[in-house]
Amino acid sequence: MSFVRTVLGDIEPSELGVTYAHEHVIIDGGRPVLMDPQFDLGDVEAMATELVGAAALGLGTVVDAMPCDAGRNAAKLAELSRRTGVHVVAPTGLHHERWYGPTHWSHRVTPDELADLFTADVTDGIDDHDYSGPIVHRTGIRAGVIKVAGSEGGPSDRDRPVFEAAAETHRRTGVPILTHCEGGTGALEQAGLLGDCGVDLAHVALSHVDKVVDRGYHRELAATGARLEYDQSFRWGDRPNGTLQLLEWMVEDGLDDRVVLGMDAAKRRYYRVFGGEPGLTWLLNGFSQQLEAAGLGEHVRRRLFVDNPARLYAFAGAAGVIEGRRS
Ligand SMILES: [Zn+2]
Repeated sequence: MSFVRTVLGDIEPSELGVTYAHEHVIIDGGRPVLMDPQFDLGDVEAMATELVGAAALGLGTVVDAMPCDAGRNAAKLAELSRRTGVHVVAPTGLHHERWYGPTHWSHRVTPDELADLFTADVTDGIDDHDYSGPIVHRTGIRAGVIKVAGSEGGPSDRDRPVFEAAAETHRRTGVPILTHCEGGTGALEQAGLLGDCGVDLAHVALSHVDKVVDRGYHRELAATGARLEYDQSFRWGDRPNGTLQLLEWMVEDGLDDRVVLGMDAAKRRYYRVFGGEPGLTWLLNGFSQQLEAAGLGEHVRRRLFVDNPARLYAFAGAAGVIEGRRS
């Protein structure tokens, strides 16, 4: 029996329900917020209000995508889950190097050393100091996904050891992997690298690939066995909705079992609670109506929102044991 690891404990994949596959429900300081105050999503009360609104439309689970030392706060993620009843999966891993700066410790460690840090987040609990310094206090709140980031066209020399560390952690624990694809590009190179490192690609999600509206590219990505995470559906403005177009193609190609949906809403201006648009309800109201109008009915939406993320975010391998929910 496999399981999904949430901030309040392990649950069965069937308990996830409607899942947003790449979110930012807490960003609590760190370099991103210093660079742009729009990233400040540290207010649990406000984010709980936003989540409750989406939960009223059926949201069951969010997968947070802010990894080590970039604004992650495990205690706040757990509090958010307790307050709202929405399952939250917290990440370990590292984001793109631009969120750390040139002198960050992560540039000076080996893949094995990184893998030990990632593994401890998954098996023991996320550091209360978020790996921002040498003193580690584990919270007991465990990571359920590894987030890593590639660069334009694929993993750079800096990214490669981080991907190798993620792969090593996956081999040790079965934890799923969520990647950032810069501009939607480089996803084939990422899947190739992770596959070469022995990762089960059915537990890998390649994010933002719907930035590249190219049917052939998405067929190739699906053929790797990895999952495609589309999160651009509200960002097309006056242009035709490329995310919707890709979903129509994937359904026609019989590949809609390979796609999961998210919003990647990392800025205050996307949230109603801060006066922004379209709000966290978007995928379940506005975009679901667009899907319905395009002929992608209830059974397709169930696959995208429920069935696909449940398989993706389950730990790989059958060794997992469900542990009691911890709070
Ligand atoms: Zn993101």
